Amino acid sequence: MRLRNKPWAMELIESHPEIFERFPSDWQGRWQEKFDNKNPLYVEVGTGKGQFVTRMAEAHSEVNFIGIEKYESVLVTGVQRSVDCRQTNLRFLQEDVMNITDFFQKDEVDRIYINFTDPWPKNKHAKRRLTHEFFLEKYESILKKSGEIHFKTDNQALFEYSIESLTQYGFRLKNVSLDLHNSAMTGNIMTEYEQKFANKGMRIYRLEAYLRS
Ligand code: SAM
Repeated sequence: MRLRNKPWAMELIESHPEIFERFPSDWQGRWQEKFDNKNPLYVEVGTGKGQFVTRMAEAHSEVNFIGIEKYESVLVTGVQRSVDCRQTNLRFLQEDVMNITDFFQKDEVDRIYINFTDPWPKNKHAKRRLTHEFFLEKYESILKKSGEIHFKTDNQALFEYSIESLTQYGFRLKNVSLDLHNSAMTGNIMTEYEQKFANKGMRIYRLEAYLRS
């Protein structure tokens, strides 16, 4: 993602405490209290400009959503967008996913979405891929036993790598699609990147992963 310098971004984000959580560690294990309900918690890692998570929150008022994005210059669009939508079941964190276990307790998260994450094609950067074992270990520790990871990408090599990484870790796969937009799946909500790739006629790969019981 191209990052434009937006020195005003953090100020704007922080001016919306109703949607942006500045100190997420304070809420570790207490997100139900934050959302004031006991609804399931779905987290999108690398949320970018937040189109997916905002539309999901609109479509599923019975679920609480949290989008995590590292860069404020990108996240600011998501915050602006959701302020317009006035969703009460959505929060954004400006954080590195590397620290995700500081924000959620064991068994607190029902689902993790990983959408069009950076492929980091060089082997020496494999550890930065959000489906690397390094991250899977963290996801496992915050996911409920019945929890799932839902993953979409346009990148075939990353998809193959992620299948290997997830299954070697001990996840099982279901609803695997090698061409999502020409599949039977209904109710798919597109991310920003997905829309861009779909407009170019590119194929989208998708899978769901769950832990062995
Ligand atoms: N998910 C969005 C979509 O599908 O349109 C954005 C995709 S973009 C290629 C990947 C995003 O993940 C970028 O905004 C990047 O900053 C974010 N990202 C990558 N690694 C991250 C990390 N370790 N922590 C937080 N965000 C991360």
